[in-house]
Amino acid sequence: MEEQISTLSLNIKKKEIRFKFAKEIERLSGIDVMRCIQCQGCSSVCPFAESMDYPPNRLIRLIQYDLRDTVLSSSTIWLCVGCHTCSNQCPQAIDIVSLMDTLRSIAIEEKRNIPEPTILEFHRSVMSSIENHGRTHKLEIMMDYKSRTRKWFEDFNLGLKMLSRRKLDLTPSRVKNNREIKEIFARSWEL
Ligand code: SF4
Ligand code: SF4
Repeated sequence: MEEQISTLSLNIKKKEIRFKFAKEIERLSGIDVMRCIQCQGCSSVCPFAESMDYPPNRLIRLIQYDLRDTVLSSSTIWLCVGCHTCSNQCPQAIDIVSLMDTLRSIAIEEKRNIPEPTILEFHRSVMSSIENHGRTHKLEIMMDYKSRTRKWFEDFNLGLKMLSRRKLDLTPSRVKNNREIKEIFARSWEL
């Protein structure tokens, strides 16, 4: 019943607002956020929902209501780690991971103020490791991230603990055809 009311109110709103932002996202990513029925399934399973200023379902609602600035300034888009837990749960098959990627890209392109700047550096460290080896090398990511943020001693004890438990490989493992991965990155940099 609650869902029906929610859908009904959305249909009424559809006539009142133009959904410019939702259309922009659909054009860039192919994701139709208007399909979201606000069941909250995504937010109930997201391991980071409590740290986000808007859990995923609310972020989508903000997009539906065309609140572009609020969405692009939110911490949510930077705290999402792309774990797919939410998308697996979504009855409407909304690809929330790609949605977050798209929102981050827009925010970067528009040089928006990033509420979690060190997370952007973390993303860059992860991507750089994938570009180098075709997969992630945790120790390299950690060192690269530290050199970008200059926070050398933050999490130092955690790093030592991980090393002692052999959770950090000293040398990276590589995919067989790393050249193809590098080509993909080179093309994406061109774009
Ligand atoms: S992909 Fe992002 S929004 Fe979805 S559950 Fe994981 S952290 Fe949360
Ligand atoms: S699980 Fe899917 S339909 Fe439900 S609120 Fe989240 S995005 Fe919307």
